[in-house]
Amino acid sequence: MVDGTGSGPIRDAAILIEGERIVAAGRSADIGMPDGARVIEAPAATAIPGLVDVHVHLSYSGSPDKRAFRAELVEMSYPLVALRAAENARNTLLHGFTSVRDMHAPGGTIIDLRDAVNRGYVEGPRIKACGMGLTVTGGHMDQPGWGDHASFLDMTYPCDGPIAFRAGVRAQLKRGADFIKLNPCVSFRKDPDTKPYRFEMNIDEIRAACEEAHEQGVHVGAHTSGGPPLRAAIEAGCDTVEHAHWIDDATLELMVKRGTYLVPTLLVNKTSSAAAAADPETPRGSKRWAELSEKAMWERLDRARRAGVKVAAGSDAGFMLEHGTTNAGEIELLVEGGYSPLEAICAATATGADILEIDAGRLIAGKLADIVLVSGDPLVDISVLRRRENLRVFKGGREVRAPAA
Ligand SMILES: [Zn+2]
Repeated sequence: MVDGTGSGPIRDAAILIEGERIVAAGRSADIGMPDGARVIEAPAATAIPGLVDVHVHLSYSGSPDKRAFRAELVEMSYPLVALRAAENARNTLLHGFTSVRDMHAPGGTIIDLRDAVNRGYVEGPRIKACGMGLTVTGGHMDQPGWGDHASFLDMTYPCDGPIAFRAGVRAQLKRGADFIKLNPCVSFRKDPDTKPYRFEMNIDEIRAACEEAHEQGVHVGAHTSGGPPLRAAIEAGCDTVEHAHWIDDATLELMVKRGTYLVPTLLVNKTSSAAAAADPETPRGSKRWAELSEKAMWERLDRARRAGVKVAAGSDAGFMLEHGTTNAGEIELLVEGGYSPLEAICAATATGADILEIDAGRLIAGKLADIVLVSGDPLVDISVLRRRENLRVFKGGREVRAPAA
């Protein structure tokens, strides 16, 4: 058993579950066997906490065409988007991810999906949803390039000015959001060698949105790229910074001091960089940006690990990455980037659960019994997590099964 606390593995482990929670976990000799207990034997398996992906987009298909994530939604009603998202959620759960954080979806589709999962209408992971991410007019999630006649009601939530961002936070929370997504700092591809990032929101807007979110007791997840705008976003109170390719040591120190989480999204960066390089139509600035960001992200990850920044696994599944089959690729890349398999598993369990404020992610007494039994030893070969046939998934003490074929 790898319990997610960061301690080494326990051989001959047992986990005692009552209802949806863990009553005891540890060496089986210490746990004992209560009368009448139902026993699930898994002699060649490793028990780990249910995996947590802190950056997904369940409403997107994961099509490799990078414009598809928006274009395909134009042809779908939001109820249909939500029904497709339910299938994405099921696949994610069957691949061992018992909790996810959804980082932007049209309308309230994923807020409703969360409620449908909680009510037992559909099978899926525990979901924390932000509703629509907040962005400036024409910004990261409100991108131009559409005919004047095209209308995207509630596909994004553009705000301009501090008051509008406060109202945006309130509107998402009214709809039922669990946290707020902002786009304070974006990539800049004009001359990436000198300046690969820029402010998108201004500092007053970032402050206002963070203040409003925190006042209402929710955290802020921020799409960022790097440099001074990233530092400003952290100073203004963003709690998790996503992507964040370019971070200097002083900012890493600030993150440690403030407890800011880094979600390095290695998999989506690698995937989109490879796609940009392979496509002859990629503009020169974008190609160069992809090269530079790829280099920066590994170098930054290494310094973040050594500085002791809290890092969580977030794949960005839904954007160029298929739900379920790809999410665990992020854990493999953390190992490729210098994390031990044990550290990478903690990033994808306990740390993720802390961000989501879900009482799971560690196999200790009192926690929700979200558990994955993995055939083989992920500490020896982390890639065993990727294959669904290796996994038996338990959410809240109940085994999740695929529908009969
Ligand atoms: Zn994303």
